[in-house]
Amino acid sequence: MRIVQFATEFAPVAKAGGLGEVVTGLSKELFRLGHTVEALIPKYDLIDMEKLSEVKIEVPDFKCIENGQQIANTLWSSSCEGVRLLLLEARHPSGYFHRGTIYGCSDDAARFLYFSKAAIQCLALRDAPIDVLHLHDWPVALAALLVREIFFLPVKTIVLTIHNAEYQGKCATWDLGAIGLNGTDYLVKEKLQDDDPAYPERINLLKGGVVYSDAITTVSPSYAKEILTREEGYHLETTFRKYQSKLHGILNGLDESLWEPSRDLHLTAPFHRTAPLTTILSAKEANRQALCQRFRLDERSRPWIGAITRLVLQKGPQLLEEAIAYTLKLGGVFILLGTSPIPEIQSHFNALKVKYRGNPHIVLHLDYDETLSHQIYASLDFLLIPSLYEPCGLTQMIAMRYGAIPIARATGGLKDTIIDCDDPTTLSSKRNGLLFPQFTKASMTQALDRAFHLFNHDTRAFHGLIRNGLQIDWGWKIPAQKYLQLYTNACKSSGCST
Ligand code: ADP
Repeated sequence: MRIVQFATEFAPVAKAGGLGEVVTGLSKELFRLGHTVEALIPKYDLIDMEKLSEVKIEVPDFKCIENGQQIANTLWSSSCEGVRLLLLEARHPSGYFHRGTIYGCSDDAARFLYFSKAAIQCLALRDAPIDVLHLHDWPVALAALLVREIFFLPVKTIVLTIHNAEYQGKCATWDLGAIGLNGTDYLVKEKLQDDDPAYPERINLLKGGVVYSDAITTVSPSYAKEILTREEGYHLETTFRKYQSKLHGILNGLDESLWEPSRDLHLTAPFHRTAPLTTILSAKEANRQALCQRFRLDERSRPWIGAITRLVLQKGPQLLEEAIAYTLKLGGVFILLGTSPIPEIQSHFNALKVKYRGNPHIVLHLDYDETLSHQIYASLDFLLIPSLYEPCGLTQMIAMRYGAIPIARATGGLKDTIIDCDDPTTLSSKRNGLLFPQFTKASMTQALDRAFHLFNHDTRAFHGLIRNGLQIDWGWKIPAQKYLQLYTNACKSSGCST
């Protein structure tokens, strides 16, 4: 099959969160299985082109019209472990992709609508039939409509993956107008009109992707059910229910080449997951020592609990704050690596950092730092993930691969990947973490109490959980097979053969 992954991230060169890792991991596995795979993203200024190989210009100059003006673009190509990474450079007067960031600009809808249109136009220029166009999240969701109703591209099937249903790309009809569509034509219930009754004049790009794609996936089976509810559908639940027959949940894999503790150059002491547990625990101790020196932490305090996360409401920042205080009270160390796109949350945590300054049991590193994230995973005893909802979550899988036990709210993909250490319905050899049911301080602190108890009084069970987590294969082999099956079925039901 010829498969094009159409997205706004590709790890590690352009990563803001889990989505970028998923696009890369899935693309590489599909290539390994013998398919022709391209990933198409914007050429952001933050991409380090030195890190890419076989970089060349594919289409030197093509124009795309926005607000009646011709904008010049170039399509670049490069290679990443067999996957062709295509980068669309927009020489846009507003510097759409020269903002030093992937998301978070006030004109995000306009930026990604422009990208969607220019990219689809470019695919049309290249004139190579596509079996599967796989879209990821709202920024590229309009591509489904563009392919089917505007450019009539020879694409056999279009798949949309929803990584997070809260973000829907809500915009105005004139935003569609800017890229040459008649916005009011699409402002109808059956097309792109927002389902929120308070905003009938609004366009919803994610909804458009749902309507016009042949198949839709979420990044875990539980999340495919949860988005049908009022709480997690964020007003799109009616549309999700309407198109439920084409909705599937496929659990994300982990790109094991990005997260391999034995070859991890970021670590002071790399380790093999299959080594004896004593060897692994000494390596973790050496990694901890490095962080103790860097952050002047008290070497005697244990256990180490941490979180590596975007600080947004979904991830439970208020619970994280409670967890920091509670861990201190119980005599542990807490390390938070996180950053927030929301200024109020970022300044709240900045103030917390000032409050705890000089405390040898706490690190609050309020930045995005890939290297440090690896070092923290390799040092922690427990990783806390107190999410309100979690479409899949990668940090719990990474933690287990690095010998840290997840403590997580039982929701979405966390529920699909973590089996509680006290779950009587599952063999103890399959249990790999701690879950708490409610999104409340009381529910979370009970789980923290159980974690401290394991660490202080039940070393056998504690080591058993680490060992079970280390042994799990989180790779892309199984998820990629599921996607291939879905691609094939979607192709068949849209009436074409692969
Ligand atoms: P989401 O995509 O919702 O942010 P995921 O759990 O799917 O959450 O993926 C988060 C990814 O981003 C993980 O690879 C995690 O290590 C990484 N990450 C999150 N915050 C930071 C940070 N401040 N510094 C470095 N890496 C981070």
